Amino acid sequence: MSVDSRGRYTPEALGEAMPGSEGPTGSRTHNLLSPRRASLMQEPVLVLNATYEPINVTAVRRAMVLMLKGVAQAEEMHNTEVHSAAHAHKVPSVIRLLAYRHIPQQSRALSRKNILLRDRNTCQFCVRVFPSSELTLDHVVPRSRGGRSTWENLVACCYRCNNNKGDRTPEEAGLKLARKPRPFTLHTSRQLMRLIGHRDERWRKYLFY
Ligand SMILES: [Zn+2]
Repeated sequence: MSVDSRGRYTPEALGEAMPGSEGPTGSRTHNLLSPRRASLMQEPVLVLNATYEPINVTAVRRAMVLMLKGVAQAEEMHNTEVHSAAHAHKVPSVIRLLAYRHIPQQSRALSRKNILLRDRNTCQFCVRVFPSSELTLDHVVPRSRGGRSTWENLVACCYRCNNNKGDRTPEEAGLKLARKPRPFTLHTSRQLMRLIGHRDERWRKYLFY
């Protein structure tokens, strides 16, 4: 698989296209599992395409649904199990889709959540990290000046900087952007996968090459 073709893939696109990630099967599986394991079920799992290309990060719960449905198999496991009424299930750390999934060219959904993810919860003006609840989205070129709601014109911004900037451009307000805002690319996504998975040695061989 070429770098070029990788460049067209986005995790969000897969999340939407991936079978079994939502729906009744998911909730049924959830109900079988002990609530004590709820936090474990939220642990991140790296999802590989059939070709071993990393394409997404999901939660243990969804990963196990995909395994139970025969859509994916575990490539790496945690040394722990979750118990349902009748069975013990090993907890996956990395899963691989059994059938190759073509991810159509599709940009990641423009949303508040994804903008904050791209900007890593960092105010793009004062460069401080905030909880999501303390961040807003700033239109770099204000809407009143014709600024649009696009990846290139929206940044994570703390309320203080947002008030300070008001209806002005960064230049007018004497503010400087930490970095030029860009759309989500697979490069960005893979960096995020690395950030999410940096504690899990089992992810390394799939992500660090
Ligand atoms: Zn700020």
